Amino acid sequence: MRINRALRLGVGAIALTVVAATATACGGGDSKSALDHAKDGKLTIGIKFDQPGLGLRNKDGSYSGFDVEVAKYVAGKLGVKPEGITFKESPSAQRETLIENGQVDYVVASYSINDARKQKVDFAGPYYVAGQSFLVRADNTDIGSPESLKGKKVCSVKGSTPAQNIDKNFKDTQLQANDTYSLCLEGLRAGSWDAVTTDDIILAGYAAQSTGAFKVVGKPFTTENYGIGLKKGDKELRDKVNDAIEAMFADGSWKKAFDASVGGSGYQAPAPPKVDRY
Ligand code: GLU
Repeated sequence: MRINRALRLGVGAIALTVVAATATACGGGDSKSALDHAKDGKLTIGIKFDQPGLGLRNKDGSYSGFDVEVAKYVAGKLGVKPEGITFKESPSAQRETLIENGQVDYVVASYSINDARKQKVDFAGPYYVAGQSFLVRADNTDIGSPESLKGKKVCSVKGSTPAQNIDKNFKDTQLQANDTYSLCLEGLRAGSWDAVTTDDIILAGYAAQSTGAFKVVGKPFTTENYGIGLKKGDKELRDKVNDAIEAMFADGSWKKAFDASVGGSGYQAPAPPKVDRY
């Protein structure tokens, strides 16, 4: 009898553990689609929290940057007011998982469209085209191209395309991959590595904030098409988000948002790219 009771309790405990583990694995994402959430007036959007000019969580808890403006504009076109948006930090290596698990409705986070990622998520856009570059300490004179990185210590972020590019194509470079770009910046400042590499537009934001400590060097040497990451297979959502991006280009909001955010890092708004309705 006692054994039976213990067994029953044990099974109950296991069942509870399984429920808890499943809830954690899904991270609270419900089964509703992004468009269902939008109908309820609420969206959870993945952005970066530590990329000035693009996606930044300010000290007062507000959010700013070009990606934040794109995220808000698209939400508006889906019928969601800024007050209905919850921003969720989406580090580079976690973006696909956050979308797949339904923890975010979409991601606007300097997110390059590529085939490997398209196996797991879909993309609307592109809404901007960046290119890989380098950030070095202001007094550095010997880094300017990927070839000049031979033997150097370079920091980038896990799961990012620039880290993958260095790892694959520039084997003589010592790559340090961290979870966030902020950690890379600390190491660059402290002299732990010689350069940080990622997209030029991200690095320009860090240089602008560094009051002369860092500079961006070299010509961009990759093409990073920034897309809005979406749940794979939700064609209706993708069409609507693509419509919103095109409307943002057409009504002048895109240029205005760019000038007000990235413009501060000395960037001129280029012509908007062509949306790819693949
Ligand atoms: N655009 C690149 C990527 O999606 C680098 C920027 C980032 O890590 O967010 O991986």
